[in-house]
Amino acid sequence: MLTAGVDIGGTKLLAVAATEKGEIVAQRRQPTAAGPDAILSAVATVVADLVADEPSIAALGVGLPGLVDLEGFVHFAPNLPGFVGVAARERLAATCPVPVVVDNDANVAALGEVLHGAGRGRREVLVVTLGTGIGGGLVIGGEVHRGGYGFAAEIGHFTVDPDGPPCACGARGHWEAIASGSALGRRAREWAARGEAPNVLARAGGNVEAVTGHEVGQAAAAREPDALAILTEHARAVAVGLGGLINILDPELIVISGGLIDLGDSLLGPLRAVLPEYVEAADRRPMPPVVPAALGEHAGAVGAAALARTLLPAR
Ligand SMILES: [Zn+2]
Repeated sequence: MLTAGVDIGGTKLLAVAATEKGEIVAQRRQPTAAGPDAILSAVATVVADLVADEPSIAALGVGLPGLVDLEGFVHFAPNLPGFVGVAARERLAATCPVPVVVDNDANVAALGEVLHGAGRGRREVLVVTLGTGIGGGLVIGGEVHRGGYGFAAEIGHFTVDPDGPPCACGARGHWEAIASGSALGRRAREWAARGEAPNVLARAGGNVEAVTGHEVGQAAAAREPDALAILTEHARAVAVGLGGLINILDPELIVISGGLIDLGDSLLGPLRAVLPEYVEAADRRPMPPVVPAALGEHAGAVGAAALARTLLPAR
């Protein structure tokens, strides 16, 4: 028996039909439509299309970037304009031929990585998504921890610098505002404006405002020293928050997902090096390994399909 998983991203919608082992047997990909009505109808259409090809699909899981409560109601979704106060699960259930569950995208991605990816076999795992923002999924005792109302593991949004830059959520100095992919771009522009990132700046045509994390990644891949220095500074910003989370949660493994994993060891190397400075008694305890995600862009959809299995009758 198969289940379907849909990952609604800010720019693309990825849908899969997957087996119990997380093997993808069919997939569909399309740009994300504009507005909740168009997005929800696109999900219903793509699922009907998958079910037509794979009639054994018995349930649907959906992940989306926002605060999704335990009933699948969306309270806040800054990366999906208009998607606020939307009863996503209820509306999909009315149009889809199978039972539906809806959760936060980082939660389903964490489930995907723990069941079928880099965290397989582990029960205490923190999945950190370093992309445009910072998302998180927290697996405790082998289960995704959703909190009292469904909003747990918003790990990008705690204050690490009260005087720091503004965060996408409206607050100031959140971890996300200093350590996300967007923050890496801002950091690189600051270096470029000071004349300290000549190679990175050259890759942006000499225009400081055009510098993003993408140019840093290109320059780092060529081992250019300014890019590597920027990433070393950025790794410390990542470690500031991650060390605190290790102190609080004591995970046995940390999985890093999101666009910044394309930087590979240019980021993870310095991160592993400085992380112990932010962990209590780091030399007297095991440090959790920090590893890249294994499922790449499929983590959310595969995890959503796995979550859908919770809707099936126990065998
Ligand atoms: Zn924030």
